[in-house]
Amino acid sequence: MNPLELYKKLPKKNCGKCSLKTCMPFALAVVKGDADLAECPLLSEAEVTEIKGSLVLSDWREELILKLREEIKGIRFSEVAEGIGAKTEGDGLVLKCFGREFRISPEGDITTQGRMTPWIKILILHYIRTSGKGPLAGRHVSFSELRGGMVKASSFERECEEPLRGLFENNYEKTAQILGRMGRLLDKGFPTAHAWELFLLPKVPLLILYWPRDEEFPAKVKMLFDASADRFLDVESLIFLVEGLVKNIEMSH
Ligand code: SF4
Repeated sequence: MNPLELYKKLPKKNCGKCSLKTCMPFALAVVKGDADLAECPLLSEAEVTEIKGSLVLSDWREELILKLREEIKGIRFSEVAEGIGAKTEGDGLVLKCFGREFRISPEGDITTQGRMTPWIKILILHYIRTSGKGPLAGRHVSFSELRGGMVKASSFERECEEPLRGLFENNYEKTAQILGRMGRLLDKGFPTAHAWELFLLPKVPLLILYWPRDEEFPAKVKMLFDASADRFLDVESLIFLVEGLVKNIEMSH
């Protein structure tokens, strides 16, 4: 289903109650997998289910979610919970992503309070499937130092660090405020006063450093990971994770 076809099925009220505020951008975001159709309160549950039925066919993210859900069905949550920094609750799992709690059923259904996107679902399912274990290394490394990171380093810079630098330059106050809400500002021990730590997933902290432009140098963003990050997510997933983070910050601007 393309965005126009989806738009025709929306209430077309431009009421502002979904995250995109008007219907056409909302249709575009849903088709891209950046928003959940259920966010529109003017659609009944039955309508959401019916429309999603047609969306699944054209959305690779939904197909990936189905595949990952199948894969985690074979995982015993009680055996992997501690390693990935989650806890069990009944026969399900509870873990934090961006500081928010998510509940995962043995069948791979994910629930939380508030907004849910395919991006979050893919990350959480992938994180569980990887089933990493062990403590954090407590040492920061650049993306290129992670296993497989060297060959993807330019993609990481282009898709993650550069767009965030643009957001800082565009509106520093707002970007800093959003990062402060998602994580915490670190005021000591770093080569710049603009440093934040965000726990993207329980075992995947991210350190964001920003240097504003000055007379000599252009502005710069550097993102550092704990040296153990590649035990919990592969480098492609880390790019996917941080790219989504930057898009979320952009959408909150
Ligand atoms: S909540 Fe629904 S009707 Fe309102 S703007 Fe969003 S998509 Fe349109």
